Formats: sequence, structure tokens, C-alpha cells
Amino acid sequence: MQSDQDKEYVGFATLPNQVHRKTVKKGFTFTLMVAGETGLGKSTLINSLFLTDLYKDRKVPNAEERIGQTVDIVKHTIGIEEKGIKLWLSIVDTPGFGDAVNNTASWKHVEDYIDQQFEQYFRDESGLNRKNIKDNRVHCLLYFISPFGHGLRPIDVECMKALHEKVNIIPLLAKADSLTHAEAYSKKSKIREEIKQFGINIYQFPECESDEDEDSKRQEQILKDSIPFAVIGSNIQVESKGRKFRGRSYPWGVVEVENPIHSDFLLLRNMLVRTHMQDLKDVTRETHYENYRAQCIQSMTRMMVQERKRRWVEPGPPPTPGRRRPLPLRKMQEVLERIQEQMQQSQRGSC
Ligand code: GDP
Repeated sequence: MQSDQDKEYVGFATLPNQVHRKTVKKGFTFTLMVAGETGLGKSTLINSLFLTDLYKDRKVPNAEERIGQTVDIVKHTIGIEEKGIKLWLSIVDTPGFGDAVNNTASWKHVEDYIDQQFEQYFRDESGLNRKNIKDNRVHCLLYFISPFGHGLRPIDVECMKALHEKVNIIPLLAKADSLTHAEAYSKKSKIREEIKQFGINIYQFPECESDEDEDSKRQEQILKDSIPFAVIGSNIQVESKGRKFRGRSYPWGVVEVENPIHSDFLLLRNMLVRTHMQDLKDVTRETHYENYRAQCIQSMTRMMVQERKRRWVEPGPPPTPGRRRPLPLRKMQEVLERIQEQMQQSQRGSC
């Protein structure tokens, strides 16, 4: 047998390096959406997760403003660099979600936002400048569940069900420091049961390959068993026993955000950034966006057939037998716009 040294090399073994260099040069993008009622610690958690202050200019609405509030969608983008790798992180915030007195379908704005990003991507992909498409699709939704209720509220169920076919949902049990270990454990089990009972499809961690090591398999199981992640956020550093850390200080002691005994914060951050960011993007592209695209193309084909039929019966010069004229480009664009309008209307109507 030929030894490795005797082999002649063509050089394609460098392909991974080439891909690596190219992607590093381009930088990475990731869009994360947060939803949940005001005051559940969404902005604090985002700041703690990415060690930044994304909400410097934020104006918290007062009670009066919140009563009739519709949901404003706000997007912040920051560039984070670590060891020469650049990540363009976008956080899409849905302030006031679930706050107003009448919350009927307050999640519709969130749904519309996600659809609009798909629509924009679909347009760009079908357009002329495909090389410079900006991908604003939402890759993950962190859904905050209140620690003060008994499991999921009806609005949580409705909202997650309306969005689960469009985005990767990761449920979080907010402000976990307000729960004892036993309470957190039983709330988590209840929420997991309800997610199953109501048929909510949250993000599924990919199954480990059979040849993966035991440690990876164990990690994967820990992640699955920890859903919903019980999280704690803090914007300040606390000092205790000669150590400084992000935490919350109470008269009876301190909680450490990054201490695995106190919360699942580290588990969530590692999962989001270190282990599953690419999978979240892949599932968005291969499943959620593909569903949207397939629906769009289906309606487009249906409308084109109708349009052709209509043109046959319209007065005008008779078509050459056996040859149908293709629709002109302008007409196709009109049809596409009508389909997109119709899809939006039917999506609004069906929810
Ligand atoms: P948002 O409206 O959901 O963005 O909530 P904020 O991040 O503005 O937090 C609302 C309040 O809850 C602030 O006073 C925070 O200091 C506090 N808070 C944030 N995270 C936590 C947490 O994990 N535990 C506790 N007990 N309080 C928190």
C-alpha cells in the first residue's frame, strides 16, 4: 500500500482553509429576535449574553403608553470582534409584547416582520443583484416565559403556535433567581409537557451522530433536558469573596449569572454562540425559508396558469396554434406582487 508520504498531492486538501479564509473575510451575520412581556429581563439578558450595552438609548414606555400600545419592532445591529473573527449581530426586539389590555393577536406584528424578511430575501434572490443580498432573515427567537405563572399562558401558546413554522423558537424561563431549585424544576417539566400537549414545534437540537464521542452526546442530552433554559441576567459586576462577576446582589446573598448551579445562562450562551449558531442558520434556510419559498412559487404558478387562461379568452389577435406566448417580464413582476399581497392577506386571515 502507498504510504501517505509517497502519495502525490493535487492540493484540494487545502479547500477547508480556503473556505475558512473567505468566510472569515466576509464576517458572520446572525439575527436573534426576543419576545415576551415587558419587564421579564429581555434587554438585560441580551446585554449579559453579548457583553455589550445594546439598549443605551432605550426609552421604557410608561403604563399609559403601554395600555394601548401596538408592538413596535426595533432592530439593533452591532459588530463584535473576537480573535479576528467579526460577527454582525442583529437583535430584533419586540417591546411591549403582551402588555396592552387587549392582546388579541399582538404577536401578528412579529409574524409579519418575519414574513417581510423572507419576502425581501425572496425578491432579492429573484432579482438582478443576487451577489450582494443582505440576509435579514430571523434565525432564532428567544421566547421569554414568566416565572410567576403556572406554566404557559394562553398568549404564549398562541404566539408560539403562530410562529413555530417560521422561526426557530427557544423558550426561556425568565428571572430564574425568583424560583427555588424545586420550583424551577417543576415549572420546566410543566412547560415541556404543555409544549408537547399543544403541539408547539420548538427548535430541535440535532441528533448526535453515532460516531460522536460520549461527551458530545452527554452535552446534547443536557441541552434537551434543560428546555426551557432558566436564565438570569444582570448588567452589573458584583464583588464577593474577593471575586468580581456579573451577578445580582440581595440582602441574603448573591446570584452569579454564569454559575451553572444558579442558572442555565452559560448553557444558553454556549449553545447559541459556540455550538448551534450555524445549525440555527441552516434550519432557517433549509426549512423555514424553503417553506415560505415553496408556498410563494406554488401561488405564483397557480396565478400564472389563471393569467394564461384569461389571456386565451381575451379579445385580441389569435395565438399561433401550438404556441403560447410567455408572459412579459413586467407582467410577471405584477403577478409576483399580487401573489405576495394575497399571501400576506391569507396569512393574516388564517391566524
Ligand atoms: P425587558 O423589558 O424585558 O427588556 O426587561 P429589562 O431587561 O429592562 O428588566 C426589567 C427589570 O428586571 C430591571 O429592573 C432588571 O434589573 C430586572 N431584571 C432583569 N433580569 C433579571 C433577572 O434575571 N432576575 C431578576 N430578579 N430581575 C431581573
